[in-house]
Amino acid sequence: MTTRRQDSGELLETAIIGAGFGGLGLAIKLLQEGQGNFAVFEKSGDVGGVWRDNIYPGAACDVPSHLYSFSFEPNPEWSRTFGGQSEIHQYLQHCTDKYQLWGKIRFNAEVTAAKFDEQNHLWTLHFADGESVRARTVVFAVGALNVPAYPNIEGLDSFQGKIMHTAEWDSDCDLRGKRVGVIGTGASAIQVVPEIQPVVESLSLYQRTAPWVMPKRDGWIPPRWRKLYARLPLLQKLHRIVQYWMFESTAPVMIKNNWMTRMGEKLGRRYLTRMIKDPVLREKVTPRYALGCKRVLLSDDYYPALTRPNVEVLTDGIARVDESGIVSRDGSHQALDVIVLATGFKVPAAGAPFPIEGLGGRLLNDDWRSGSEAYLGMTVSGYPNMLYIMGPNTGPGNISVIFYIESQLRYIMAYLKHLRQRNIAALDLKAEVQREFNDALQAKMQNTTWMSGCDSWYLTEDGKNTTLWPGYSWQYRMQSKHFDPSIYRSRRRSMSEPQVNVELGEPATSSS
Ligand code: NAP
Repeated sequence: MTTRRQDSGELLETAIIGAGFGGLGLAIKLLQEGQGNFAVFEKSGDVGGVWRDNIYPGAACDVPSHLYSFSFEPNPEWSRTFGGQSEIHQYLQHCTDKYQLWGKIRFNAEVTAAKFDEQNHLWTLHFADGESVRARTVVFAVGALNVPAYPNIEGLDSFQGKIMHTAEWDSDCDLRGKRVGVIGTGASAIQVVPEIQPVVESLSLYQRTAPWVMPKRDGWIPPRWRKLYARLPLLQKLHRIVQYWMFESTAPVMIKNNWMTRMGEKLGRRYLTRMIKDPVLREKVTPRYALGCKRVLLSDDYYPALTRPNVEVLTDGIARVDESGIVSRDGSHQALDVIVLATGFKVPAAGAPFPIEGLGGRLLNDDWRSGSEAYLGMTVSGYPNMLYIMGPNTGPGNISVIFYIESQLRYIMAYLKHLRQRNIAALDLKAEVQREFNDALQAKMQNTTWMSGCDSWYLTEDGKNTTLWPGYSWQYRMQSKHFDPSIYRSRRRSMSEPQVNVELGEPATSSS
């Protein structure tokens, strides 16, 4: 059995799309099990996903680093409780080094389409440069938050100053002494505002909806603790377990929309009252929806930054942008040098990142027109041998996404092993399994805080939640723990099909 190169490209056992946490995690697992015939295709020039791209000042994680890292690759050297962007990016580069993944990743390889060949039971991936590759299985680890959303505001293009989206930050843009307008008050905004406030001349913060903000309690991890973690890995493990249960215990508050949520809101309002003494400002930034409906934001320095004399919170709404600044609905005009768009990401209802064609020419974006759905967020009926990492309804509302990713890595490895060991050409999820799973999931979803009436990127335009897991993360782990082949239709391999050498482990060549 050999790998063949044909006009249409080479033949891989597994093609992974995306070199963020999910893609790198799967690559590590495959190598650890001696399954070397895979490649990771990454559209950019480095690993890291959102942690490579989001370099705005203050970018950091709001889940503690000991929990927001692979359980199999603990890092005793985390410098802060909540790691900053560059430290998390470096951690992923370290994983790539340690597990010798660089040679398995093809950078600047942007997938533009994926098509399943029913006859040979192989996926063909097409790339922006015209190349193509065939693979037995494809795993999309592309993440949901990678396309910046630009607001549809009249006149935005006419602004003569600098416009920057937080996810496309221009580090060469010096904000010192500038008049800066920030649009948005989500997770990105509350990190960038306190960071730039001390250096800018003025900061006009355009708030459409006041977020719930809770104390983060961030801080440096003393060197003696780092030494202890390095010497006593069990201690670090224990610390991770404690952090896991601390965060997991907030699930009923965030998800259930019940008396515990009201208690949480009380704590949030108390924190706000403590941090902001000015009643007018406090009134402006008081949230008016159920805690958890939008992402709960953690920050120690956001509210203090709002109280500084060079900051103004504007809540009248934006009427338009002109060449010199922003005009609010009340007619007032703020002259600005820079506009920062902290307006989030495009999370489309039909979530296929590019055209994906499954059985009988069906297109994933058509199947997902009224909202994406899968089985456990990983497999989709009609698309054999296609898996997602962090697909539909697997986003956590309260805890580390890495916990979900690791649950999925385990499931995907079992899926791939089954294909290999049983000599099966393709596994296609039964349609009724997908339907029953999603009916139950959406029924459970109806009672969650996320459906309590606020507008968020969690929901499609029709109000369907296709992003979050409506339960505890341990429930997801339990449900995804065992791979059950009976929920898939198997297609046997024929003798004429191209054979793939699963163990081929030499470094892949670059396609860029
Ligand atoms: P976001 O949560 O979607 O927030 C976007 C903000 O922009 C909201 O305040 C929104 O107001 C506002 N906005 C959008 N369009 C607007 C318009 N036309 N006019 C005025 N305001 C407008 O985006 P994000 O802050 O980038 O965060 C997105 C997600 O990324 C987070 O939920 C989180 O999952 C992730 N993230 C995580 C971290 C972390 O610490 N781990 C940090 C950053 C981001 P409305 O609320 O009224 O819609």
